[in-house]
Amino acid sequence: MWVLSWNNPKLHTPDRRKSWTACEEHLEYLRSFLDTRGFLREVAPSAAQPDPSAT
Ligand SMILES: [Zn+2]
Repeated sequence: MWVLSWNNPKLHTPDRRKSWTACEEHLEYLRSFLDTRGFLREVAPSAAQPDPSAT
């Protein structure tokens, strides 16, 4: 699992971070979604176990 940390400058103060958890399968989709909009700040591995309901 992965955690994508992001910030929307129009909605959030610069130090605010939203985080999305993604499985390997959806990481690239979410990464490009955020990166295209200039929201992406960090992608890091998550220690959490995969959640079968979170696909
Ligand atoms: Zn997924």
